[in-house]
Amino acid sequence: MSPQTFNRPRFDAALTRQWQHLGLTSARQMTPHQWWQALSRALAEMLATQPPVQAKSGQRHVNYLSMEFLIGRLTGNNLLNLGWYKEVQSALAEHEIALNELLEEESDPALGNGGLGRLAACYMDSMATVGQAATGYGLNYQYGLFRQWFDDGQQQEAPDDWQRDRYPWFRHNAAQDVMVGIGGKVKRGSDGRHYWKAKFQLRGEAWDLPVVGYRNGATLPLRLWRAVGIQPFDLTLFNEGNFLRAEQPGIEADKLTKVLYPNDNHQEGKRLRLMQQYFQCACAVADILRRHHQAGRALHTLPDVEVIQLNDTHPTIAIPEMLRVLLDEHQLAWDEAWHITSRTFAYTNHTLMPEALERWDERLVRDLLPRHLQIIKEINRRLKKQVKKQWPGDSAMWHKLAVVAEGQVRMANLCVVSCFAVNGVAALHSALVVKDLFPEYHQLWPHKFHNVTNGITPRRWLKQCNPQLATLIDNTLQVEWANDLNALEWLAPYAKKHAFREQFRSVKQQNKLRLTLYVKRVTGIDINPQALFDVQIKRLHEYKRQHLSLLYLLHCYRQLRANPDNPDTVPRVFLFGAKAAPGYYLAKNIIYAINKVAEVINNDPQVGDRLKVVFIPDYRITAAELLIPAADLSEQISTAGYEASGTGNMKLALNGALTIGTLDGANVEIAEAVGEKNIFIFGNSVDEVKALKAGGYSPKKLRKQNRYLDSLLKELEKGKFSAGDKQAFTLLLDSLTKNGDPWLVLADFDAYLAAQQRVEALWRDQEAWTKAAILNTARTGRFSSDRAIRDYQQRIWQAAR
Ligand SMILES: *Cc1c(COP(=O)(O)O)cnc(C)c1O
Repeated sequence: MSPQTFNRPRFDAALTRQWQHLGLTSARQMTPHQWWQALSRALAEMLATQPPVQAKSGQRHVNYLSMEFLIGRLTGNNLLNLGWYKEVQSALAEHEIALNELLEEESDPALGNGGLGRLAACYMDSMATVGQAATGYGLNYQYGLFRQWFDDGQQQEAPDDWQRDRYPWFRHNAAQDVMVGIGGKVKRGSDGRHYWKAKFQLRGEAWDLPVVGYRNGATLPLRLWRAVGIQPFDLTLFNEGNFLRAEQPGIEADKLTKVLYPNDNHQEGKRLRLMQQYFQCACAVADILRRHHQAGRALHTLPDVEVIQLNDTHPTIAIPEMLRVLLDEHQLAWDEAWHITSRTFAYTNHTLMPEALERWDERLVRDLLPRHLQIIKEINRRLKKQVKKQWPGDSAMWHKLAVVAEGQVRMANLCVVSCFAVNGVAALHSALVVKDLFPEYHQLWPHKFHNVTNGITPRRWLKQCNPQLATLIDNTLQVEWANDLNALEWLAPYAKKHAFREQFRSVKQQNKLRLTLYVKRVTGIDINPQALFDVQIKRLHEYKRQHLSLLYLLHCYRQLRANPDNPDTVPRVFLFGAKAAPGYYLAKNIIYAINKVAEVINNDPQVGDRLKVVFIPDYRITAAELLIPAADLSEQISTAGYEASGTGNMKLALNGALTIGTLDGANVEIAEAVGEKNIFIFGNSVDEVKALKAGGYSPKKLRKQNRYLDSLLKELEKGKFSAGDKQAFTLLLDSLTKNGDPWLVLADFDAYLAAQQRVEALWRDQEAWTKAAILNTARTGRFSSDRAIRDYQQRIWQAAR
């Protein structure tokens, strides 16, 4: 496809219609926010006439099902992908409007928690860019991930009302609305068929966002479903004077897509959450089948033309839903329905952690989805036969592999059994999926298992967020790299050139200045832009080990106090960004501890600007876009074996930050790509972690042996950072000692300290540091999500099934 050229008269006409709709008599009367609205609506209107990418012959249409799409602001990104930025900028300049200021008017749609949701957004961008026909399916939440701020260091939460009703990029595609039933009973007809009589019905409204490919004229729909009551108003009740109850059914239905659940890598077995999952899946399955019928295709050809990719187990209920529709509505026989379904679905696993693996109470499933439970049990019954044949008399084996057991439905097992492909998200993780999570399934169906290492879109995560570096690369290479990220390899020879290093360093410096102003504005803290910017941005979770950084902070402070005039001190600014799930009290205690330690350090005159600690409130895409280009050091210090991939690590390395990290997730592949001299790897490996846990690891013993570490912990215990309050950090401290330090924070402390010393040694040689930073940018092209999408195409979507 070829890029869509900017049509100025069409743009002017579309813009004019916008202020006329507002009842104004000239563009000049618009407020900045109205300007942003008008601009975005005008652009959306221009894109609406564009037909979405059609599958090439032999290509399957991808249906990407995800409960989360963390899209970030769209207007600037769409302009960049369209290639219309300059034209629109000058068109607006004629009205004395600055485009870059308008773009700040957009709220940041936070329809996701973290990496998983952002991955879905990057994959939509890449599918549009490589010309993969696709539809994204998700939910149109009224409230996104909560807003965060701190009160005396404690996380506070407020609802994130992102004004979806006025979001200009949405288009309600009323012709595509679907009906969804929930609850009720199943009756067996005299014809032997199953009739599900749902207790109540909802309408799913299709709200579409256009996903714009990079300068190829392609768009894809991201279809987010919104639940509404079918009878928003009961006229009888109203006429009887019962005004409040008249709206009741509508209120109940609206609850469904009211708010995103704020858990990351943790399941909360809530009824409403299962309802959300089913609602999304029922809408998507109905939509996919409708498209199939409208194209005049027979049901049995579904797997030849459609693939349904499940982003983790959250949309698993789509599998029994597809079977239900095929069996009950189309009256196919089980074998036929199964043949179609099991060749259509593919599953991406995102975690090995038991607390994140979804299991639903059987009674809850029966209550909400009685027919689906029957179907799941039939899958289970047939699986049992197969397992008994493979491992006769081995009841422990069956217990492990069952889809329904102990009164619970295990969604990951349901996925592996029912999908034609299962993939992990980094080489190490995919190996562990086979070795630790599903070894027996792998024995049964080795052909199902794959790896696709995650990726990030270089459009948003380099070209848009780091325009200065993008321009430097443009000027240096004179090639298009934004849709061919391996071209960055040509930068490697420039690492040896002094002049280029200077330019590269100057770009980083300007990005650090930009961040310095932001930090001042949102926190009031002055930071030194010459200092090393040490960045840890990700959800707050024990396995990600922000508390390991906290211990290092205590060390830095101790060193500064002990030796204030040490000329070798490397000035550092720690920048944290992280939200803790509101019910995750230990995570919140870690935030509190970091903030309290920060308060003492930042206000100690002896420290000055050699050490500052900043916890950026409300970490989200917009903040990431400022932090990542300014980072010198990227903290990726999860306990080995627990971070499935990470994508923050990729964004930071691509923007020239050096990684300090464990051999976990995609860190392993980043180390391979950039070379071990250009990364700081430390700590226990996956096998060493396993050995420690098996060998009775004792943090108490470790504390006794490591007097220095013990003394740092004592500072927290004694209330040095909490005005004498000895209970302030109990949750955190108990976890590190009494409760066995399950994430091996203390076990990795010395190695982390040593790695940080290597960081400082390299930092003192700015030329060598810059060389390494350039090589990080040059050698991380493989982490483009375009490459990841091509891997999905080759290994899963287009592979024989
Ligand atoms: C990339 C990204 C993440 C994922 O970060 P990890 O370090 O991989 O966990 C989370 N949140 C936001 C806003 C992101 O942009």
